[in-house]
Amino acid sequence: MRVEEEKEKNGKQKNSGKQIKTLAVFDPQVARAVAAEMRRQQDKIILIASENYVSQAVLQAQGSILTNKYAEGYPGARFYGGCENMDVVEELARSRAAALFAAEHVNVQPHAGAVANLAVYLSVLKPGDRLLGMELAHGGHLTHGSAVNVSGKYYQCFSYRVDPRSGYLDMDEVRKVARRVLPRLIIAGASSYSRIIDFAAFARIADEVGALFMVDMAHIAGMVAVGLHPSPVPHAHFVTSTTHKTLRGPRGGMILCRKDFARDLDRAVFPGLQGGPLMHIIAAKAVAFKEAQTEDFYRYQQNVLKNARALAEELKELGFNLVSGGTDNHLVLLDLRNKGITGQEAELLLDELGITANKNAIPDDPQNRLITSGLRLGTPAVTSRGMQEPEMKQIAALINTAIAGRKDSIVRTRVKREVKKLVAAFPVYQNMR
Ligand SMILES: *Cc1c(COP(=O)(O)O)cnc(C)c1O
Repeated sequence: MRVEEEKEKNGKQKNSGKQIKTLAVFDPQVARAVAAEMRRQQDKIILIASENYVSQAVLQAQGSILTNKYAEGYPGARFYGGCENMDVVEELARSRAAALFAAEHVNVQPHAGAVANLAVYLSVLKPGDRLLGMELAHGGHLTHGSAVNVSGKYYQCFSYRVDPRSGYLDMDEVRKVARRVLPRLIIAGASSYSRIIDFAAFARIADEVGALFMVDMAHIAGMVAVGLHPSPVPHAHFVTSTTHKTLRGPRGGMILCRKDFARDLDRAVFPGLQGGPLMHIIAAKAVAFKEAQTEDFYRYQQNVLKNARALAEELKELGFNLVSGGTDNHLVLLDLRNKGITGQEAELLLDELGITANKNAIPDDPQNRLITSGLRLGTPAVTSRGMQEPEMKQIAALINTAIAGRKDSIVRTRVKREVKKLVAAFPVYQNMR
């Protein structure tokens, strides 16, 4: 419907208390920003490792009238009436996630990955208890004990680091730190680590020092779901995740745990940290878990991995240094120091030419965390739009050309034109324009 027609129709309605105006008519400012964002997501090559394109089914569930419903509590034990449909939705989400990850218990209510982590801490730690996680600047996450996060304020936090020469986690080093610190909880999992983490080795160390063990699989959950990445579930007391990264669901969090921790964990999420669950998001999580059980999703994850390897190999060919020398998962961390450009400069330059990635600290980065010497690249989003290895090679070449020829306006124009051609060949959300 054209905007004029909509206006006319809206104008004829009496103010009955019903909100019948469309977004475009009622709030063109927001509508324009949404439309512009749709174009941005179509027109740019998105290499942000934590982003993805959800399906239309996920979008529909997420944009549904379930947003109207209060359902504090859990299926069968709610604090509001009229929750029978919500129970169906949450049970579907829980049972699908339990099947997908072979987990004993699932909580799908955390509004985000950060809340999921905090819920685990709240359920098993007392303020002042010791927590051991991967150092933020070495690939860890803010919520694993950074001083600026609540985790670093309420708990005594310690960190282990990657080996500065190899870029790999060194499990002997982790054991040493764990023995010295004697934490109550050990956390494995990262935001910018491109290698497989040895969950069994972590579990042994946790056992040795009498610690509980939690894995935050936010980045790798999609690959874990289809068995293309070792699962942390058999090894950890708790596994937390986001649902919106490689798992390609709505923005949100979830927690898997063993039966004996279930009751305390559920109480930590609600009423410990949250009020009413976002039932529209939980519905979209259920849809995403169903998608994750399909053959298509398995092939998608295979391609995410193949693409990351192709991108890494080609960048290496072109003289880029990769932290740890390569990748086992969906992401690549470039060490840009030999290219004479900072992470911040590279991020700005590439985005202007149509390639969106994020600056990222490298282990023991000489630059501060706003500048950085690294660039993190990931393949989940470009793979969702159907790109394969030949396109990864092309993207690597474009990144190289852009960085090498950044002072040459003819080169910049050429890169922009190539990006345009590439994104036009791989449309997203075609019928939603
Ligand atoms: C993204 C991420 C989170 C946080 O998720 P939010 O939904 O942004 O709160 C937590 N842990 C890790 C390892 C992550 O990569």
